[in-house]
Amino acid sequence: MIDVNQERAEDSAPGRSLRKRALLAWRHELVWAYQAKEADRQTELRQVVFRKLVSMFGPRHVVEVEAQANAVDVEIWAAVEGLRFLGVRHPSGEIQICLVSRCPNCGQEAAGDWLTRLADLGRELADLEEKGKIEGHECLK
Ligand SMILES: [Zn+2]
Repeated sequence: MIDVNQERAEDSAPGRSLRKRALLAWRHELVWAYQAKEADRQTELRQVVFRKLVSMFGPRHVVEVEAQANAVDVEIWAAVEGLRFLGVRHPSGEIQICLVSRCPNCGQEAAGDWLTRLADLGRELADLEEKGKIEGHECLK
């Protein structure tokens, strides 16, 4: 995967102004985001969700993704060490993943915010443990 924070060597050429470097970095990031979205669109949802979960949490945890019923599925469930995740393919083609947990207050299942890295999962788990709530969930109690 391309590190978007890694400035391309040719963009940091000596004498190049900050303004020019920033614009080039931004354009490259737009291209990178577009390519990532296109790659998601052309790949099976199950494969993308598996790859994203392994990329977020590292290869040491067993990632289980349910079988995909058909190529047009827009949602798929996954589990890692008892935690449940939902992968969603948006109309734009982008695929995102959230943690789905049971509200400690009312017992209803609810989805958290989108996860992009390990710390995001930590934030969701801390909210559940410390605040006893799922952000954005309309609690029945
Ligand atoms: Zn609740």
